[in-house]
Amino acid sequence: MKQLIVAIVAALAPAVVWSAPYELVIRGGRVLDPETGLDATMNVGINQGRIARISAEPLTGTRTIDAKGLVVAPGFIDLHQHGQDEVSGVLKAFDGVTSGLEMEIGVPDVKEFLTRKSGHSLINYGTTASHAAARAAAFGSPLAGDDLIPQSGHATNDPATPEQVRQMQSRLNSEIDAGALGIGMGIQYVPGATRQEIIHIFQSAASRNVPVFTHIRSVGRKEPGSSIESVSEVIGAAAVTGAPLQIVHINSTCLADVSDCLAMVAGAKARGLDVTAEAYPYIAGMTSINSALFNPGWQEKFGIGYNSLMLPETGERLTQARFDELHASPKSQGVVLFVNRQEVVDGVIANPLTSIASDGEVGHPRNAGTYSMILARYVRELRTISLIDAIRKMSLMPAQRLEKATVSARRKGRIQEGADADIVVFDLATVKDRATYEKPNERSTGMKFVVVNGTVLIDKGALVPGVLPGKGIVSNDQ
Ligand SMILES: [Zn+2]
Repeated sequence: MKQLIVAIVAALAPAVVWSAPYELVIRGGRVLDPETGLDATMNVGINQGRIARISAEPLTGTRTIDAKGLVVAPGFIDLHQHGQDEVSGVLKAFDGVTSGLEMEIGVPDVKEFLTRKSGHSLINYGTTASHAAARAAAFGSPLAGDDLIPQSGHATNDPATPEQVRQMQSRLNSEIDAGALGIGMGIQYVPGATRQEIIHIFQSAASRNVPVFTHIRSVGRKEPGSSIESVSEVIGAAAVTGAPLQIVHINSTCLADVSDCLAMVAGAKARGLDVTAEAYPYIAGMTSINSALFNPGWQEKFGIGYNSLMLPETGERLTQARFDELHASPKSQGVVLFVNRQEVVDGVIANPLTSIASDGEVGHPRNAGTYSMILARYVRELRTISLIDAIRKMSLMPAQRLEKATVSARRKGRIQEGADADIVVFDLATVKDRATYEKPNERSTGMKFVVVNGTVLIDKGALVPGVLPGKGIVSNDQ
């Protein structure tokens, strides 16, 4: 009789086949979801890459992870990850990043990027369409090799003709068709772009309802060309076109004026504009020494000298002669710039308006340590951010930033039934970044388990060999 009842119940309600085990159960962790405010001891059941059940009742799994004493949170989403190589993928995973996207600049060829990464990525990936690449192509000098940003020259420093702007718009449109999640604009890398060109490119993003991610035109206090002017330009372009806007690494492009820059973002939001900002928790930046960022006047803008520049490979601090040699070379060379003060960085990271994004690439410790540093320094040591707000800055806020470009982002950045099973399980007492400027490739520690699309890729703190569960995150229009 009992068996018969079970059979009838199972037949009538196949959605509640309670006896079936889940593929994976994360048992007894402190489960956090920043959207609903959930912060409780729960069991999480995972099937077919999604969170199928969250319950205080015991769940049966083909495999069960014991998360007692550990935090269970949505995997971190890094919207500013230049390094899309294998080394970076591993470093990101150990830092709790389950999605790493190239949004600031964008790759030069979206279709090629998505094809190359498909089936070969530890973590989820995606990209914007590149304004810089579209501009270089319109000037007849397409980007070389793996370069994301052009070398300083005609294609970066000269204004475009109306026909060239139309060519850029046409290319950016087809890149969005190919799956790009927005338009990346490194305006400081193409100083020849007029305000008019910028507005036209914002119009392209608005017409497709995808966000613009931008490294603003300039930095510092000197007018014209201050950080404040540069923030005004992009908020103005967002206001008149309707394009959603994310100002990237507001820490390093606003420096000592970052409170005023964030007040401008708050003001824009208060007036109904979709404007957001992100930051990374390091005092140094990194970029190409051959780029237009080092056009004449850079020392005054950044308030630094040659000695504040460091080669990541050797730790060599530059002199004028060495700078001139490297800047003039046709070979692209990364350089670390010590531009910011720790108290400025600490303020911007704790501000509720900023999400966290690493600006990661090999050679800078932010590639490996950004997210663990947020947990170790700001949550555990300084106590300037609560744990759930830190999780919000690293998962929910970046997911929400992507939602206009792709409905699939509504399943990211959440521990909810139906969400993608991108999950981190970590020990808040020990999680720690270990990468330094001298040793930028040191893995973070404390991530006990990292799950991407339901597949465990860090298991008891060790990388699982042979799994590549990362998937492309692409625009609705693809
Ligand atoms: Zn940048």
